[in-house]
Amino acid sequence: MSKLIVFLIAMLTSIVHAQVSFSQRSLQLAAHHYTLNYDINIEKRSLVASGVITVINTSKKNADHIPLRLYRLLSVSSLLDSKGNDLEFTQRVLSNEDWPVLQTNYIEIKLDTPLKPNQLFQFQINFDGLLRGYSETGMNYVKDNISREFSIIRMDALAYPLVTYPNDRVNKKAKFWLNTYEYDVTINVPEGLVVANGGELLSHSTRNGVSTYRYVNKLPAWRMDFAVANYQRYSKGNYSVFSWESQQASFQLLEKIAATFDLYTKWFGPLQKDLGYTFIEVPEDYGAQADVTAVIQDAKGFKELDRVYHEISHQWNVKTLDTYSPRWNEGLATFLEELTLDKFGKSGHLRTQTEKNLLHLKKVIKENPLYTKTAFIDYGKHGLNSYITGMVFFHLLYDLVGAKKFNEVMGGFYRTYYSTGATTEQFVQYIKKFANVSLEHFFEEWAYSSKYSKRLVYFKSYTQLYEFYKSKNQIKPTAHTD
Ligand SMILES: [Zn+2]
Repeated sequence: MSKLIVFLIAMLTSIVHAQVSFSQRSLQLAAHHYTLNYDINIEKRSLVASGVITVINTSKKNADHIPLRLYRLLSVSSLLDSKGNDLEFTQRVLSNEDWPVLQTNYIEIKLDTPLKPNQLFQFQINFDGLLRGYSETGMNYVKDNISREFSIIRMDALAYPLVTYPNDRVNKKAKFWLNTYEYDVTINVPEGLVVANGGELLSHSTRNGVSTYRYVNKLPAWRMDFAVANYQRYSKGNYSVFSWESQQASFQLLEKIAATFDLYTKWFGPLQKDLGYTFIEVPEDYGAQADVTAVIQDAKGFKELDRVYHEISHQWNVKTLDTYSPRWNEGLATFLEELTLDKFGKSGHLRTQTEKNLLHLKKVIKENPLYTKTAFIDYGKHGLNSYITGMVFFHLLYDLVGAKKFNEVMGGFYRTYYSTGATTEQFVQYIKKFANVSLEHFFEEWAYSSKYSKRLVYFKSYTQLYEFYKSKNQIKPTAHTD
């Protein structure tokens, strides 16, 4: 009996300790620079990595430790300061406090001298182990593994150390995605395999059966993706495709990528920094990801070009300053992919797709009453899906203000907030200010209340829905025409 009590007390203390240790904390540090070297061992399906990481204290208080997370099967073998002295650290595989099914190796480095606000700290790290994906978490696309066919080093599987706690609420509160970093990463693979990355290839050499690829970022990065396969690389100007599809299919995709960039540049104006674009093929169901200068997509991306349009349109997005973003940019990208298909020859496609989406939304709203209670602007707080609702929202906006004004406003918003980022509220205010019609009623229903959901259910077609909002939004007497 007493043993049981001791055990229970020990259990409780550990639970209490875990909760106090992370949910009460705030993330003070961010990655500033990564120099990493990876040796990929295909036979053992393992990796060995070493390097130097610089972190910065982004908070207003002194920091006394560095939190790091790695994939659950990767472990740190040594941590040294910049002078080569051992750093005191602990590591253990922990469940995320707010998502227990996700297990990561949590490493905490103790700092003898606290790190002051804005101060940098550099350390050397060695880690090694295996990658076997995260499908047990429900993230089915994180099949990350090391094999001759395909290997990938990316953020989704924490294949490099992330400066975060095993508590997503705490990480989100710090808006960690706003802190970008530089990287310089070398990857050694067996000869014959190619390492693909969206950054700049600094060097490539092969010696004794080992090929070495060294990449640095082109723009400040918030994620790193390195894919390893038997790739062919195709280039046209600033654009590249890494693929194992036919030469013909790869060149066709390159042409489409170039044409899409031209089209969006015509619509929204030039990108603030045009550093080219890299498309990296990954096996089916590995997920699509857009980075600042690259996209990873499976073979479907060669045929279903709407996905390519979607990802390229994200290049004209600005960073969100919302803690819980409704991710309206996903709605915009979903709208733009259908619009682009329409403009590239599938005339009438946009209207058909919106009608389909409306039918789908009627069902979704019926099945999940949360949609009838949540304003679109609050979708992020409740984890609701903004892709389809957002697509209908942007189609309405597009029709209400007209194509020319729509493009002007989206391009203007991008140029205004490119360097600072913006909140959804700033986005709404920006559109209201520069639109040629009064959008008070439209935003009242879509951004500040859940009334839009009743309209989605009530109106039988997109035309009816559009006519309703058009009649409610009067043309301003002093409309902006510039
Ligand atoms: Zn997207």
